Amino acid sequence: MIRVAVIAVGSELLGLDRLDTNSVRLTRVLNRYGAELETKVVVGDDVGLIADELRRLAGRVDLVVVSGGLGPTADDVTREAVCEAFGCTMRVEPAILEQIVARFSRHGLRMPMVNQKQAEVPKGARWVPNERGSAPGIVLERESCTICLLPGVPGEFDHLVESIVEPWLAERSEDRGIERAVVKVACLPESRVEERIAPAYPEFGRESITILARPGEIHLYASAAGTAAERSEHLSAMQRRLRELAGDAAFTDREEDGLETVVGGLLQTSGHTVSTAESCTGGLISERLTRVAGSSAYFAGGAVAYSNVSKIRDVGVAEGTVQSEGGVSEATARALAEGICERFGTDWGIGVTGIAGPGGGSDDKPVGTVHIAVAASSGDTSHRVRVFPGGRDRVRTQTAQWALDMLRRRLLVLPQLN
Ligand code: AMP
Ligand code: MG
Repeated sequence: MIRVAVIAVGSELLGLDRLDTNSVRLTRVLNRYGAELETKVVVGDDVGLIADELRRLAGRVDLVVVSGGLGPTADDVTREAVCEAFGCTMRVEPAILEQIVARFSRHGLRMPMVNQKQAEVPKGARWVPNERGSAPGIVLERESCTICLLPGVPGEFDHLVESIVEPWLAERSEDRGIERAVVKVACLPESRVEERIAPAYPEFGRESITILARPGEIHLYASAAGTAAERSEHLSAMQRRLRELAGDAAFTDREEDGLETVVGGLLQTSGHTVSTAESCTGGLISERLTRVAGSSAYFAGGAVAYSNVSKIRDVGVAEGTVQSEGGVSEATARALAEGICERFGTDWGIGVTGIAGPGGGSDDKPVGTVHIAVAASSGDTSHRVRVFPGGRDRVRTQTAQWALDMLRRRLLVLPQLN
């Protein structure tokens, strides 16, 4: 077993604003190669503290990955810490300096003096170019331990994990690792999903399936150990079975896809278009839809019809409907969906209106009450009313989730959830 340690360097990671996410993505890579993350530490920008951790961990594991502290500013001291820990000196690598200067001049800029520091490499270490930024990756060997210094910016970190850490692991691993695959389920409570997938536990082993819940969405994670071929076969079998058990609430088995990606794909293949009239979500549904590159092919636009005046003036809800039924009502949601569908000339229209809270609730319309409607230009409008639990954020997130899932179900001609 390859033993690995991570040192996440950066005083900001000890404060209130930033989390160390680099080590989490690295862990997925390590698992794939059967390497074990034995320990990880978060250390502030302090030469002595970083040097202590480097010395301690280099004596314990086969690979130490250090994230961060390679920037040009005075607080980035990972290189200095390496020199202190292992008693080496620094040299300036002209080839790195040239690349940094070229990088700046491509953007029409002169390299600031402080960036010169990023061309420094501890003597005896090798460096690996970083196409996404100015700090290269640095690799050094200390007895039986390899130490990789990688920049902290997540995109650059991932890039160098791919070009430095993966080949290192591939050379040493015995093709046995752990991998996981997901099945995403929309709009069912966790306990209902648990009931549905229960038969899979004895079939595959309780510990190989994990349920992670978030508002309006459940992720089922299947994990498998073994060679790459064994894992792939096992994971496909588990995904197939989990999808079958979860039924039509399962919407994707691609980690990178959200409900908006799936709905977008369905709209694209059917050649249909959609528009949105959003009250309580304030544009969240159109934001979700337009997260997907190429969504202009099917998303026409919409209205954030937050006030009653806007619902009437901008979407064409009848004044009488708003007055007699209220801004938050089935009739208004239906009129929003139908009105926007007609005004934008789309095949589908989504209308939502509700009470996101924390104020504004009443006995018959408590906080969390949301009406969601999906209209088809052909004339058939579906409607659901929900009372979502949780605070304002959760209510709005769940509303967007339900609206997208209602449209998904319409596009696939599936029954709506109750
Ligand atoms: P550095 O390489 O230390 O200059 O870090 C550059 C940027 O990457 C900073 O904005 C950090 O907030 C971010 N960053 C550094 N380390 C991590 C980490 N472990 N996880 C996520 N982001 C990080
Ligand atoms: Mg830093």
